Formats: sequence, structure tokens, C-alpha cells
Amino acid sequence: MKTLQPVITYRHSSLEDADNTLNTILDLIVEGTWDWNSNTGEVLRSPGWYRMLGYEVGTFKKDVFTWENVIHPEDYARVMRNFELYTGGQIDEYCIEYRCKKADGSYLWITDRALTVARDPDGHVARIVGAHQDIHARKVAQMELIEQNRLLKAGNVTLEKRLRKKAEELEKRNAELQDNIAQIEHISNTDPLTGIANRKKFEEELSKEKSRADRYHHSLSLAIFDIDHFKQVNDTRGHKAGDGVLQNLTALVAAHIRDIDVFARWGGEEFVLIFPDVPLDGALSVANKLRQLVSEQEMIPGLRLTCSFGVTEYQQGDSIEQLFARIDNALYMAKNSGRNRVELLAPDHHKA
Ligand code: GH3
Ligand code: MG
Ligand code: MG
Repeated sequence: MKTLQPVITYRHSSLEDADNTLNTILDLIVEGTWDWNSNTGEVLRSPGWYRMLGYEVGTFKKDVFTWENVIHPEDYARVMRNFELYTGGQIDEYCIEYRCKKADGSYLWITDRALTVARDPDGHVARIVGAHQDIHARKVAQMELIEQNRLLKAGNVTLEKRLRKKAEELEKRNAELQDNIAQIEHISNTDPLTGIANRKKFEEELSKEKSRADRYHHSLSLAIFDIDHFKQVNDTRGHKAGDGVLQNLTALVAAHIRDIDVFARWGGEEFVLIFPDVPLDGALSVANKLRQLVSEQEMIPGLRLTCSFGVTEYQQGDSIEQLFARIDNALYMAKNSGRNRVELLAPDHHKA
């Protein structure tokens, strides 16, 4: 059976030899060592300890104040508390990271590890041996990472905040744009003097209602009316009064039709009405009701006037031009038959 031989065995012929070996090894594996005798107060420091901090070897006093003086002020209280806890037996291990002042004034992060190697008969610590290791590069890298992480997190928060703010701004801007669009749409569809639909809007609505009537086989009627002798109003009362008449007349008519009816200014003192789902006879009676209403009301103080109406009904296949030709002719008939009248022109199948 083979016995395992240690690879390296030290055989020192003298104590000095042994010390040399020990010190060389210590110099190789740690940056610096210290050896504190609590009874004499003496602290031995290895040449490596001085080299680590850039001081000339052996220049400091061999006491604990040398140590205390190199500890970073921010680390001092923590290091002392740790030392007391260890010597007082409250912690089993002495191992602490802190900064030591170098000869050039900068600070070096080190790990300080130590062990009690002798106690007095009363149990008090008599001697502690310790070793310092340079951990500066690791510590700085670690702190940089922590700082980068912090900045990253803070940056993310800022980015989120900025994005949220941007989204809110966009939402607000969008709402404003929607408002603007609605306003522009309203303006482009409205007659500025009377506030009712204009010709453009009327044509759009008529085209829609025509399709709807075709789709559901609903009735659809149309009326046009024109103020009788309106020119005289302008001539006798002035243009402004004429404007007032147009405004009051439209308000009166608008108040006496259904919500689904479309009321528009065709131009000048001519107006058009769409009566969805109303057959010719229904449109005729509405037109007559409106004609009478207008004739009975003072449009401006001391002024009454009348209107002439033309009415027709939509017949599937009618073009808008055909429809207009019919109500125009009906209106012409009303004017020619003495005004303040409603005339109708039925589509062809009514005639048949
Ligand atoms: P009729 O019974 O044949 O319709 O006679 P009328 O005088 O109403 O017809 P005419 O077409 O000769 O005159 C229409 C007048 O309407 C002429 C024009 O000055 C007036 N008018 C058109 N638009 C406006 C307007 O916006 N404001 C005012 N105050 N007058 C207008
Ligand atoms: Mg006219
Ligand atoms: Mg007229």
C-alpha cells in the first residue's frame, strides 16, 4: 500500500528560515498583514501593507492609531463597531470591507480579515493577526454597476413619465382637432344668416334619403317655398329688416317640422324641405299648415307676408334633377295662380 507524500514539505534549519518562508508566502497571497498585541499596544505591519497604500515601508508608528488614521472617515464608525463586536465575542468572524487612505490621498477598497490567536488567562483578546486584500477594482466596478442600474431605473421612470405626458398631450390635441373638424363641418353645412342647412348639405341629405326610400320602400316627399314679393320688403324696410325676416321665418318653420325633416336654404328667399317617410298628401298638408302659419304671423313688427309652395313626391328611379324640375314647376304654378298657395306635381305614376 502506497502512502501519499505531501508535494511540498518545508524543512527549516532555523527559525529565521521558517520566518522567511512564511513572510514570502504571505507577501504573495495577501497585500498586507498586521499583528496586534493588545497588552503592549504594538502593531506589526508587513512591508506589503505599506506598498499596498504607497507609503515607504516602516514609516508609521507601530500602533493602532496608524490604522485608525488611514480609515476613510465615512467607514470609520462601522469598522470600529465591527472590531468591538469581534473582540467582545459578539461576532465570530472578523471580515470587513472598507477604504484606506493611500499616500497620494486617494482611497483603496480593501477586505480586512483577522483571527484571534492568543487570549489572556481572563479570556480577553491578547493577540490578533490580520490580512488586508486589495478589492478596489471589484468594488469600483460593483459600485459603477449599482449606479448604472440606478440611473437606468431613474431613466426608465423618466421615459415612462415623458411618454405618458406625450400621450396626454396627443389625446388633448386630438380632442381639439375633433372639435375643429366638427366646427368646420358645421360651418360648411350651415347657412350663415339663418343657421339652417345650406344647399350643399341639402343635396347630401336628399341623396341619402333617396337611397333610404329605395332601400325600405318608404315614401319620400319634397317641398320648396319662396317668399312672395320679398323684394318689396327690402325696398320698403331695408336689407337688414329683410335679413331679420329671413331669420324669423326660418325659426318659425323649423319649430313646426319633425326632427327628421330636413330644412335648408336653397338660396335668396327660397327654401326646401325633405319629408322622409311622408307620401304626397301628407307633404301637401304640412306645406299648407306652414303656409298658413307664416301668413298669420308678423315676421317683423307690422309686417306680414306669405309664401308660395311647390310639393312633389319621390318616385323610385327619379333623378335629383327630375325631382327638382317637378317642385320648381309646382312652385311656378303656385306663383302663377296668385301666390300664398301650395301646388303639387305628382310623379308620373300618380298621374296615370
Ligand atoms: P316673388 O313673389 O315673385 O317671389 O317676388 P320676389 O320679390 O320675392 O322675387 P324676386 O326674385 O324678384 O326678389 C327676391 C329678393 O330677395 C331679391 C333679393 O334682394 C332678396 N334677397 C335674396 N337674398 C336675400 C338676403 O339674404 N337678404 C335680404 N335682405 N334679401 C335677400
Ligand atoms: Mg325667389
Ligand atoms: Mg320671392
